[in-house]
Amino acid sequence: MSRHAERTDRLRRVLREHSLELLFVCHPANVTYLTGFRGDSSHLLVGHDHLWFITDSRFAEQAQAEAPGCEVVEHQNSLIKQTAATAASTGLRRLAFEEAHLTCASHRELGAELPSMALEPTKDLVENLRAVKDREEQNLIRKTAAAADAAFADVVADIRPGRTELDVASRLEYAMQQHGCRKPSFDTIVAAGPRASLPHAESTHAEIQPGDPVLVDWGGVRDLYCSDATRVVHPTEPDDLWREVYTIVLAAQERAIQAIRDGVPIRDVDAAARSHIADAGYGGHFGHGLGHGVGLQVHEAPRLHAKSDGILSEGMVVTIEPGIYLPGQGGVRIEDLVLVCQDGPEILTTAPKNIETACLSE
Ligand code: ZN
Ligand code: ZN
Repeated sequence: MSRHAERTDRLRRVLREHSLELLFVCHPANVTYLTGFRGDSSHLLVGHDHLWFITDSRFAEQAQAEAPGCEVVEHQNSLIKQTAATAASTGLRRLAFEEAHLTCASHRELGAELPSMALEPTKDLVENLRAVKDREEQNLIRKTAAAADAAFADVVADIRPGRTELDVASRLEYAMQQHGCRKPSFDTIVAAGPRASLPHAESTHAEIQPGDPVLVDWGGVRDLYCSDATRVVHPTEPDDLWREVYTIVLAAQERAIQAIRDGVPIRDVDAAARSHIADAGYGGHFGHGLGHGVGLQVHEAPRLHAKSDGILSEGMVVTIEPGIYLPGQGGVRIEDLVLVCQDGPEILTTAPKNIETACLSE
């Protein structure tokens, strides 16, 4: 059985558990996960023993090649109308859909086309399957992370006063492509000095100033799978505050990573980092969650935060990225990609993060 057929099989078991007969999948990453199709603008209908792949002439040939287990249905003018017509042709009375992804307009149109079919919202059915990566996915993510790390090693010496944030970002993105990535998994963040206090700063034309620590958050996409990592480097002599904050964030991050293993509650992993930062007196300066899953998308299930009631399972790939942000002064975030294994973590990010390597001048 192909890996895509295995995934569809697992989804069908979930559908049976929820007493669902037909699921309409519209989210592109979910379509790709279930079929292997790499294009977009396509819908999937998953029945208990049949898969319909609805697309247009641009993608029909690609779908035949990439998604061999599906019956490819080519629509002429409306993807949603054809999806409705194909769903109606099954004679089933209920159609489940992905509530997080179907637009209001498409939902309304579907309802109008299917007056005798009940539309049933579902949440995260495919996303929850995607959260646990099989061996092949783990290897693909490992390779993306290695390519992104190699790119970072190539450009780290270029992070210095006089360069702009965007200079560094574009060099890093180019280097990722040189190492086999197709594109960045998100807009690379290079934030110098006080701008690093914005957790999701945009890179600008501002020059790195002497004394600025520089936060770099970057990731690539290689063979469909993403990576994500953050480092803070200090091109010139850091001051005592920065050393203190860096040391606290690094210790918090390492505590969280060491708490990772199969079966551990997510909130315990979050607490391992968050309590360390709070005990050091910076509890009010770490406002975001601890991390997130990474796979076909750079942000996916599971979400790691203090109120999660989820459990980490073997095969999940997550980021661990605590930070301390001091408005007007700067910020430190350290982020690694980690594979959850039976007995502990496998850290997929190899870029150095100890304080000596963060201080380039030393
Ligand atoms: Zn990141
Ligand atoms: Zn992240």
